[in-house]
Amino acid sequence: MTNISEVFESMVFSDRVMRQVLPKAVYESLKQTRLEGKSLDSDVADVVATAMKDWAVSKGATHFTHWFQPMTGITAEKHDAFISFDKSGQVLMEFSGKELIKGEPDASSFPSGGLRATFEARGYTAWDPTSYAFIKDNTLCIPTVFCSYTGQILDKKTPLLRSMDALSSEAVRTLRLFGKEAKRVNATIGAEQEYFLIDKADYQKRLDLKVTGRTVLGASAAKGQEMEDHYFGSIRPRVKAFMEDLDEELWKLGVSAKTEHNEVAPCQHEMAPIFDNANKATDANQLTMEMLKKVAERHGFACLLHEKPFDGINGSGKHNNWALSTDKGENLLDPGKTPEENAQFLLFLTAIIKAVDDYQDLLRISVASAGNDHRLGANEAPPAIVSIFVGEELDDVISSIIDEKPAAGKKKSASILDIGTGVLPKLAKDNSDRNRTSPFAFTGNKFEFRMPGSSFNIACTNVMLNTAVAESLSLFADELEKADDFSASLKALIKRELSAHRRILFNGNGYSKEWEEEAARRGLCNYKKTPDAVIHYADEKNIALFKKHHVYTREEVVSRMEIGLDEYQKIIHIEAGAMLEMLRRQIIPASIRFAKDVAQSVSIKASLGLDAKGEKELVRKLTSLTDSILEEVDKLDILNQKGQDEVYAAARFCADEVIPQMAKCRALSDSLETMVDKTYWPIPTYSDILFY
Ligand code: ADP
Ligand code: MG
Repeated sequence: MTNISEVFESMVFSDRVMRQVLPKAVYESLKQTRLEGKSLDSDVADVVATAMKDWAVSKGATHFTHWFQPMTGITAEKHDAFISFDKSGQVLMEFSGKELIKGEPDASSFPSGGLRATFEARGYTAWDPTSYAFIKDNTLCIPTVFCSYTGQILDKKTPLLRSMDALSSEAVRTLRLFGKEAKRVNATIGAEQEYFLIDKADYQKRLDLKVTGRTVLGASAAKGQEMEDHYFGSIRPRVKAFMEDLDEELWKLGVSAKTEHNEVAPCQHEMAPIFDNANKATDANQLTMEMLKKVAERHGFACLLHEKPFDGINGSGKHNNWALSTDKGENLLDPGKTPEENAQFLLFLTAIIKAVDDYQDLLRISVASAGNDHRLGANEAPPAIVSIFVGEELDDVISSIIDEKPAAGKKKSASILDIGTGVLPKLAKDNSDRNRTSPFAFTGNKFEFRMPGSSFNIACTNVMLNTAVAESLSLFADELEKADDFSASLKALIKRELSAHRRILFNGNGYSKEWEEEAARRGLCNYKKTPDAVIHYADEKNIALFKKHHVYTREEVVSRMEIGLDEYQKIIHIEAGAMLEMLRRQIIPASIRFAKDVAQSVSIKASLGLDAKGEKELVRKLTSLTDSILEEVDKLDILNQKGQDEVYAAARFCADEVIPQMAKCRALSDSLETMVDKTYWPIPTYSDILFY
C-alpha cells in the first residue's frame, strides 16, 4: 500500500518545500505573488532558482525545461541540462534566475494563426510562479507562459491568468458592496476526466486509432452499452492495477486524484481530482492526460482521449466544475444561511446566468472541435445548445423574484424573496434530480459545465467563463456602487436581470427535439458543427469583451479563430486520409480475396452439379459492395485533395463535403465487415477491441 502522505507532492517544489528551503523574506515575497497575483520581485528569482535546482538535483533531476501550453492543446517542453563550466573548466550544475524566469524556444513550429511571421520565429516563455514546478522524467518542469517577442500571446495559460485577474478584481469589487474585504477571488475548477483504455495490441493494428485517435471504420459489436452493466461496475484487475499506478504517479506530481471509476461505455473510465484554482487545475489536468497515456503504455494499454473513439458507443467528455472562492476560503456559490449571504449568492448567481446567456456563443466555441462534434447533440452528451439547469428549488426562487409572487410550497413568511431580509429555502447539496442532459448545471455550490471534450485543454473554456462573469459583475458593480438605497437597487437589479436572461434557463430534457425547437424560439444559438461556431469568435461583441478585460487583443482573437478552423480542417483531412489508406490497402483487398474464394467454391460446387444459390448470392453482394466502395473511395480521394485558400472555406468544405463522403464510404465498409469471414478481416473489430 502506498502511503499517500509520503508520496503526495514528493516531486513538487511545493509551498511546504519552499518554506523549508527559501530564506523567510524570499518565501514571503513569492507567497504574495502566488496568492494575490502580485508581480514577482526580480531579485527574488536568483535565490529561488538556486534553491529549486538544489532541490531538483537531490531528487535526481539532471535537466530543466520550461513547460508551456501552446495552442496545439498539449503541453510542450524544451529540455536543457543544468550543466555549465566554471572558469577553470570544472563542470558545474547551474541554474540562474534568468533561466528560471525566461526561456527562448523556437516558436516557428507552433500554431500562431498569422500572429508571428515565419521570419520572426522568436518567442519566449516566462515563469508562472502561481503554479508549482515539479519533476517528471528526471527533469525539473517549470510552468511558464509563452509569448512572441512582440508581446502577443501564443499559449493557453496567459489568457487564463488574465481572465482570472479580471474575474478576481470584479468579484472583489462586488464583495465590497456587501461590506466584505477580500484580497483575491479565484475561480476553482475540478475537471472530471473520461477516457477509454484498450489493449495496446489492438491499437497497434489500426492506423485510424494511431493517427486520429478514433475508429473511422467499424460495424457495431454484438453487444454495446445497452445493458449499462459497465457503469460503476467492478473494475477488472488489469485496469485496477493501472488506476493504482496512475494515482501514485499523479500524487507524486501533486495532482489530487480522488475518484476512479468505470463509465457507461465498455472500456470507458473516469478520474476526478479534488478541485483547485483554475490555473493549477488546468496544469493538473494537462499532466493527468499525459500520465494517463504514459501509465497506460506500462500496462499494455492504449489510452484514448478522443471524444468519440467508437461510433454508437458513448463518447468522452470532461466535466468542468466551476465555482468562486475568496482568499479566505468562502465559496461564493454557496447559497449560505443568512439573508445577507443569500442576497450575495443571488447576485453572483444572476451574474453567471447573464454571462452564460450573453456569451453562450463563446462557451460553445470553447468546446468546438472535430472530435467533439461527434458528441455534442448526439444523444449522449449535452446538446450543442448552451442552457442552464438550476434545479427545481432554485428555479422556484427565480420565478418568485421575477413574478414577485410567493415561491410555491414555501412558508408564507419567507415567500416573496425580499433580498436582504428574506431567507432562501435550504437547497439540497446533492440534488438527486440532477439533470444529466444539461450542458451547464448548478450542483449545490458549483456549476458543472459538461460540454468540454475529453482531449481539451480546459483553459479556453475557463477563459470564456471567467471573462464573461467578470463582465456581468463589472456592469452590476458600476450600477450598484452609485445606488443610494443599496438593498432596493440590488433587488431591482436582480429582478431585471433574471427576467432579461430567463431564456437561458431550462430544466427539461436537453436531448429532445422539442427543446431544439423551443431553443430556436427563444433565440438561443445552436451551432451544430465546429465551423458554424468558431466563425463567431471574432464577432464585435466578443472582441469588445476581451479587450475591455485585457484578456485578448483583436488580433489575438482573430488568430485563435483561425487556428480553430485550421485545426478542424487538418483533422478531417487526416481522418479521410487514414480512411482512404485503410479502405484501399486493407479492407477492399480483403473483401476481394474473400469474394474470390467464395466464387471458387461456387464454381467447384457447380462442377459437382450443385447450385450453391446462397453462396452465389453472397458473391454477388460482396461484388456489388466492393464496386460501390471503389467508386466512393475515389470520390473521397478527390474531395480530400481539394485545396482551399481561405481557412473558413476550407473548414466549411470539410464539414459539408468531406465528412458526408466519409460517412458513405464507412457505411459500405461496415456492411462488408458483417459479411466477410473474420479470418480475412485485416483489422480488429469493435467486438475484439471493446471486449478484450
Ligand atoms: P460528481 O459530479 O461525480 O457527483 P462531485 O460533485 O463530488 O462529483 O465532484 C465533482 C468534481 O467537482 C470534483 O472534481 C470536485 O473536486 C469538484 N468540486 C467540488 N466542489 C467544487 C468547487 N467548489 N469548485 C470547483 N470544483 C468543485
Ligand atoms: Mg460530475
